[in-house]
Amino acid sequence: MKIVFSITKYRTPIILFLVFETIAVWLWQATGKLFFLLNFSYIGIWVALGLLLFTEGWKYAREFTQFGVGSYMLVFLGLICRENMQIEGLWYYLLCGVVGAGTLHYAIAKILGPLLFGRGWCGFACWTTMILDLLPYKQDKVPRKKWGFIRYIMFASSLAVVLLLFWLDMADTYTMFILFVVGNLFYYVVGIALAILLKDNRAFCKYICPITVFLKPMSYYSLLRIKCDEDKCIRCGKCLKICPMDVEVNNNSRSRKNATECILCQQCTKVCPTKALKC
Ligand code: SF4
Ligand code: SF4
Ligand code: SF4
Repeated sequence: MKIVFSITKYRTPIILFLVFETIAVWLWQATGKLFFLLNFSYIGIWVALGLLLFTEGWKYAREFTQFGVGSYMLVFLGLICRENMQIEGLWYYLLCGVVGAGTLHYAIAKILGPLLFGRGWCGFACWTTMILDLLPYKQDKVPRKKWGFIRYIMFASSLAVVLLLFWLDMADTYTMFILFVVGNLFYYVVGIALAILLKDNRAFCKYICPITVFLKPMSYYSLLRIKCDEDKCIRCGKCLKICPMDVEVNNNSRSRKNATECILCQQCTKVCPTKALKC
């Protein structure tokens, strides 16, 4: 009986670990590359461990996972192995007709994966917000600006830059590595400046990040989402106040305001006095 109870309690970390391990073994067997087994096993272990610690109530479990996965991808895969894991890397591999690490990363974390785990990438793995979340502006204090159109400009610009490199016959792995370094520095500088200006750590995610062009529509259909038992809700507004992404989380509908902004950080579930919110 106790075992059944424990499995229920830890079902999300167990399911996500199994999903990552399935991908790891499948890619290893399909390609013969041991790298895929080690890479996806590493990520799966960190994600499962972080969620397990979160379930146990450890305050920094999300940040722990974000640093474990984010720094591995930025430092090891990006800077040491020289894989461009940014959106330009996706365009590069697609235009080369190659299924590279960047293509797989996007397919799993940002295009197909969000159908299962929403924007869990944004809450638990992104190396940009791994740094931005260290800033003191955890909840935004100013009303949301109508600047969301910038993400589409960024999205189109990223494709235009890679097309230009191909046109100039400069698209190679070295140039893509330089672009990765420059692109990340640009993201950090803009992200930090915007966070300070708007007093909002997640301003970059709300207005600038081009990846949200994939993440938002896919996460709309996510299996994993914060559900609200509206019968239990006493409309105290605590969840709305603490949410860093302005999600109208005390409305259970999928089309609630800013529904596709939810990063599954679960701050709202922690403060709800009636336990109306669950993931
Ligand atoms: S919106 Fe972009 S920058 Fe923000 S957490 Fe998601 S992927 Fe990272
Ligand atoms: S506080 Fe709740 S609704 Fe807001 S982003 Fe985090 S999990 Fe989603
Ligand atoms: S914190 Fe809970 S009770 Fe309060 S508004 Fe949100 S869902 Fe309702």
